[in-house]
Amino acid sequence: MAQIKLSNLRHSYRPDPRGDDDYALKKIDLTWEDGGAYALLGPSGCGKSTLLNIISGLLVPSEGRILFDDQDVTALPPARRNIAQVFQFPVIYDTMTVYDNLAFPLRNRGRDEDIVRQRVMAIAEMLEVSDMLNTRAANLSPDNKQKISMGRGLVREDVNVVMFDEPLTVIDPHLKWKLRSKLKELHQRVKATMIYVTHDQTEALTFADQVVVMQDGEVVQIGTPVDLFERHAHTFVGHFIGSPGMNVLPCDVRGGVAFFGDKELDLEGPLAKAGEGRAEVGIRPEFVSISGNGPGVPATVRKVSDVGRHKVVEAIAFDQRVHAILEGEAPNAGDAVTLEFKRSQTRLYMDGWLASTPGGGA
Ligand code: ADP
Ligand code: MG
Repeated sequence: MAQIKLSNLRHSYRPDPRGDDDYALKKIDLTWEDGGAYALLGPSGCGKSTLLNIISGLLVPSEGRILFDDQDVTALPPARRNIAQVFQFPVIYDTMTVYDNLAFPLRNRGRDEDIVRQRVMAIAEMLEVSDMLNTRAANLSPDNKQKISMGRGLVREDVNVVMFDEPLTVIDPHLKWKLRSKLKELHQRVKATMIYVTHDQTEALTFADQVVVMQDGEVVQIGTPVDLFERHAHTFVGHFIGSPGMNVLPCDVRGGVAFFGDKELDLEGPLAKAGEGRAEVGIRPEFVSISGNGPGVPATVRKVSDVGRHKVVEAIAFDQRVHAILEGEAPNAGDAVTLEFKRSQTRLYMDGWLASTPGGGA
């Protein structure tokens, strides 16, 4: 296993890239610590597979270097990087039995049959496929084929990293939930560095100790699942995490004070730096409360949805849609109300990036 460092990485699929828009990866500096459980989270097309393929060596980056424990592997082919990669769709040999499929990566490395047997049995047990070991892979259901594909990625204990690229796409929803917890458990037992790529926040947050969030070829935040919920480094992360996502409201900043419509908003703390650019206030629906006629932002309720544990209120304030999540009583559609934003959770973003600092002030 190894620490993996991506240094000044850029990648374009075009022969003569010009602007940033021509790059699938704009500029990536990232260190994956040895033994970590990481998720790489972002919408389709943001560059996740490109990044994985650069780590595995299937792609050579246009610029920058890849280091495994400080050894430069940028020019090494995949076979010499000692990594395991599991793809979206099963990669198995249909004519072989399940046992031989799982044994393949070990035999390929010339391991003793004793060791092969031991590892195959252990992985088969973890994935609950022990009863299928003699079945020919061609006869398996798509779910089970993908399980075997994952097993092939996990069977070697000497790899630098195991990478999963949206591996649960073809899996049925019920089994998906089970496999996700299983992978987490496997990480704890196998202790290999794992990078799990997904566009699904639930998958990312249940699997990973650290989540790397990408948007449009850039890393916008790296943090624990708790960090990602509590302080969004970028409005994109706020939109992406939770349901509904963070409210992002246009505002004006005058003399270090943020105004939404004509209402002054109390921010969590002072601005990190005064700057030019598009100013927005971010507040999660969990931290918006509603009263009949308080001192807050005047609004009209448009819709109230009961989603079981709580109610989601959609209100309109200064022509903007604001969501609030309420635990108890909720107003009715059409009501005139005022919205209170919890101060410690009300943050300023400039051009998408967090610009207020916690604490300070009264
Ligand atoms: P993700 O895995 O997050 O969905 P990808 O890494 O596959 O994203 O793609 C990132 C961007 O690069 C997308 O705009 C995609 O269209 C483009 N891209 C991916 N693969 C290729 C390719 N082989 N040739 C040209 N463009 C590609
Ligand atoms: Mg992809």
